[in-house]
Amino acid sequence: MFPRLPALLILLAVLALPLACHSAEPRNLDSAKQEITRYIDSGDYFRNLAQVAEQAERYLTQRLGEPAKPGQKLAIVFDIDETLLSNLPHMRPLGFGYVPPLWNEWVVAGTAPVIEPFAKIYHIAQAHGVTAFLISDRREKDRSGTAKNLHLHSLANYAALYLKPDASHDTAAAFKTAMRKKITEQGYTIIANLGDQESDLTGGYAEKTFKLPNPFYITE
Ligand SMILES: [Mg+2]
Repeated sequence: MFPRLPALLILLAVLALPLACHSAEPRNLDSAKQEITRYIDSGDYFRNLAQVAEQAERYLTQRLGEPAKPGQKLAIVFDIDETLLSNLPHMRPLGFGYVPPLWNEWVVAGTAPVIEPFAKIYHIAQAHGVTAFLISDRREKDRSGTAKNLHLHSLANYAALYLKPDASHDTAAAFKTAMRKKITEQGYTIIANLGDQESDLTGGYAEKTFKLPNPFYITE
């Protein structure tokens, strides 16, 4: 009896194989878009942003209350898109699609609205002598529109705005980690790193990270 059992199991596995190979139909794109639209229009997106900002503010207040080590220079790192600046007015009419020429026009115009709760964090940090660094997956060619847009919202007095070289093939995570390493090598202690993508936050070189919601796209 016993030697037959493995053969039976193999037979059952072979019979089950075609079933395992067929995956379920993917989620419908229109329903995903409708869900995102509801997330925005219900105010939940903005409430979730505000919650993360509250956590960051609470942490910052506690961290800045700690006695500073002699000569220690504190820094804070922000991502730009969907962290300090909102691209909703651009993305929404396009059904959250990405059309490179239209995206470029939007960046050049430099009129993206600010995400207030995080602009507030930026100003609180600076008021406490924490140096702000901006690291974005935008390209060097986007520098003037990006700088203009930040200036529009009084977010201009950063120590550096790191943008990806135009020809770079680095992932966002690799580029951003390298920039935080560079900041650290300049003698700064990065006390917080804030961004809407996992690729903003992985790779270390920050005491604490804060993940903002972004159901619109993924940057790897
Ligand atoms: Mg972003």
